[in-house]
Amino acid sequence: LRLGKFLVMNRRERTFTAIKPDAVHRGLVGEIISIFERKGYKLVGLKLVLPDRKLAENHYSELRDKPFFPDLVDFISSGPVVAMCWEGKDVVRTARKLLGATNPLESEPGTIRGRYGIDIGRNVVHSSDAVTTAEREIQLWFTEHELVDWDPAVARWVYE
Ligand code: GDP
Ligand code: MG
Repeated sequence: LRLGKFLVMNRRERTFTAIKPDAVHRGLVGEIISIFERKGYKLVGLKLVLPDRKLAENHYSELRDKPFFPDLVDFISSGPVVAMCWEGKDVVRTARKLLGATNPLESEPGTIRGRYGIDIGRNVVHSSDAVTTAEREIQLWFTEHELVDWDPAVARWVYE
């Protein structure tokens, strides 16, 4: 029983994933959402946001001393961002794998960045780099009532 409970809790990991303005302009929104859906993850939050500079700065606050920070903030607050919260087993680490490496020179061709990105400053998507980061970013982008708790009918065909 303990083990069963643990396995169910395990599926509740959440991450914050965002489709950046470059990908929204390029019409890649449906494509990117599909990759997460088809993988088997559960969408628990979704909205289109025009982030103000404060939100962009806060989101990337770890990078505030980097030379590219002002351009990064300009870019993220320049257009619509699709903010998402995905839930499932190991979703934080798996989402990073689906995205591929930050630098498009290193991202594998099968990944989202590998398929759709050329420049590091236009690398299509974001996803939290750790469970603690995910908690912070979900809180930053979503209010509690914007996250939906639901049970997908297919869960028993996704998880053993
Ligand atoms: P991520 O977690 O893979 O997105 O990478 P980081 O957290 O290190 O950086 C955040 C974002 O800043 C990246 O996705 C890039 O868009 C951008 N970025 C990171 N490093 C560089 C860089 O050296 N030059 C430029 N122009 N942008 C960068
Ligand atoms: Mg990061």
